[in-house]
Amino acid sequence: MKVLVTGGAGFIGSHLAERLLDDGNKVVVVDNLSTGSLKNIENFQNKSDFDFVEGDIRNSELIDGLVEQSEAVFHLAAAVGVKLIADRPVHTIETNISGTEVVLDAVNKFNKSVFIASSSEIYGKNEAVPFREDDDIVLGNTGIARWSYACSKAIDEFLALAFHQQYGLRVVIGRFFNTVGPRQTGQYGMVVPRFVQWALKGEPVSIYGTGQQMRCFCYVGDVVDAVIGLMDSEQAGGGVYNIGSTEEISIEGLADKIIQMTGRKSKKEFVPYEDAYGMPMEDMMRRVPSLERIKKAIGWEPKTNLTETMEVIIESEKGTM
Ligand code: NAD
Repeated sequence: MKVLVTGGAGFIGSHLAERLLDDGNKVVVVDNLSTGSLKNIENFQNKSDFDFVEGDIRNSELIDGLVEQSEAVFHLAAAVGVKLIADRPVHTIETNISGTEVVLDAVNKFNKSVFIASSSEIYGKNEAVPFREDDDIVLGNTGIARWSYACSKAIDEFLALAFHQQYGLRVVIGRFFNTVGPRQTGQYGMVVPRFVQWALKGEPVSIYGTGQQMRCFCYVGDVVDAVIGLMDSEQAGGGVYNIGSTEEISIEGLADKIIQMTGRKSKKEFVPYEDAYGMPMEDMMRRVPSLERIKKAIGWEPKTNLTETMEVIIESEKGTM
């Protein structure tokens, strides 16, 4: 099968593209290299079944041409990362809303199937544990830039579901919870790569807020299994699925674990959100996915636990230092 991966030079997209190639597909990646990099695809960019196109998903002429030649589209390109969202809110909103509109228009025009990468951020300040796909979206006020990302992803979901409902387009929406693994960069605010890099250098590990926020980190290889499983499943079309781990850890607990696993003597320091982001920032205390729906649809659950995941990431970060 010939498939298109938008954002395929990014962290999750590059792992997905690599797996799709290994499974025998022809893969085309389109990416503007804004947060992604050619380094992420260097392992497979010379394979004959792989093509890289540097370009923007908001370029409808380009996307129409690429979608027409593909059988399925995995749409992962987006402005991602709490720091990037805080620093470049206009860019975030425009990329995530206009970009997805262009992709959906193209897949609808040529009647292809599409996977849309959404986010657990859209549950916002809802305090349910765990989050089920039909729970309410509870977002903060428009003065807090963080919610623009959640809102943009919610619009993407609404639009994708509207195309499904109105035109019968085959869409599958995956709400990724915190996803981690090799190739993830800490540059745009992702916690695990930053903690690992600080710890490996023996530098202080900066924890934003109290460190008592609980999170679940899922290994990227498991997330890729879920994405492909959903796209392969007849019955998943038109559905929204949580994709994540249910193994919880506090951010301070994560720092302790990483310091202990790296064997370094880094100290922990606590930084208020406003100092970290230079503006007011709201955070949620717990974020756990209900996996009932995805288990029922395709029998998926994560295979890799947090310790195994951290071992892989620490080894991979050591290789880059
Ligand atoms: P990433 O930044 O590594 O990947 C995004 C990719 O999209 C990058 O390669 C970037 O260069 C590309 N891109 C951005 N704007 C583009 C544009 N206008 N045109 C073409 N390419 C563009 O981030 P990621 O973590 O791999 O995220 C992939 C997807 O998963 C995103 O849609 C993100 O919202 C979603 N997601 C990720 C997480 C996570 O924990 N990593 C959690 C929830 C949702």
